[in-house]
Amino acid sequence: MLSLLFHLQMWIFPNPYLAFFLSLPADELITNATYIGTPGKGILAADESTDTIEKCLSSINVKSVESNRRALCEFLFCTPGALKYLSGVIFFEETLYQKTATGKSFVEVLKESGVLLGINVDQGTVEIPDTNGETTTKGLYGLAQRCQQYYRAGARFAKWRAVFKIGPTKPSEIAIKENALGLAQYAIICQENGLVPIVETEILVDGSHDIDHCANVTECVLAACYKALNDQNVLLEGTLLKLNMVTPGSAAKKVAPEVVAVYTVRTLLRTVLAAVPAVVFLSGGQSDEEATLNLNAMNKLKGRKPWSLSISFGRALQQSTIKAWSGKEETVKKAQAAFLKRCKANSEATRGIYKGDGQ
Ligand code: 13P
Repeated sequence: MLSLLFHLQMWIFPNPYLAFFLSLPADELITNATYIGTPGKGILAADESTDTIEKCLSSINVKSVESNRRALCEFLFCTPGALKYLSGVIFFEETLYQKTATGKSFVEVLKESGVLLGINVDQGTVEIPDTNGETTTKGLYGLAQRCQQYYRAGARFAKWRAVFKIGPTKPSEIAIKENALGLAQYAIICQENGLVPIVETEILVDGSHDIDHCANVTECVLAACYKALNDQNVLLEGTLLKLNMVTPGSAAKKVAPEVVAVYTVRTLLRTVLAAVPAVVFLSGGQSDEEATLNLNAMNKLKGRKPWSLSISFGRALQQSTIKAWSGKEETVKKAQAAFLKRCKANSEATRGIYKGDGQ
């Protein structure tokens, strides 16, 4: 419906300013999706589930209680100079209602710096019957109401993660189809309720497969997703794609950033429609520096790239930061310096001008 409205609007009012004053919902979605992809800026994925954040905090002997999770968010979002490198931050639901120690809501902190608020709306995964442990993502039930509530709380985009494994029989056709359909249904529900959907397909890095195999699987998954998104009439201009970089499996020999760049951009060119404003990568277990160098190589690569290429990193923005923070007040400045360094490095990588950290 939104897609149809958008094209009707462009046909009746080809002048974008006239169309803007009509204020159809499509305008807001397109404006926000395009803004998130602004070169020089990226997304901080701070939406780790309670289990994931628990693992992360226990690695520095900090207990995963609400007050410590809040303290981590406060020092990340309040790092001086960092928010200018971010166009969006993805929250876990808990963070939406948390405040700084001085009582300002995190939503307000981001808004003041022009950073859009995103929210993780999926409810984890469930096994697909008759598959070898493959999963699909839960959360469609009641999603429209949750989107309305999140929009009222200030959210402007959402995230839903479909996860795939590479193995002798994986991903199966049924897992690809089920996840593509789930992503398309989620996307249209988000758009009807004012949220830009991040369509996330994560092909896990686990395994000893080579980069060609990862490229083939990523192509199959993306082709099925864009078919499903079109079948559901999702307005592609008001969406973002989040995915893994195309790399060899974690147990295989690494390749140079230039090779990752060629494979990843080729895969995107074959599958992701030019109407999509931006592709934002997850870091998927790469080191901070490796993920930044790979992104930089993609943006340095000559040739046609109709979407901007940026980040939606969780670990690659936070792991060095969390390591520098021991949960104590006196380590906050050191941790903030580590976070700022990664934000700036990735900002440069979105323009292909990152020179590396010299190590
Ligand atoms: P990583 O960058 O750590 O792979 O994760 C991205 C993400 O979406 C975390 O919720």
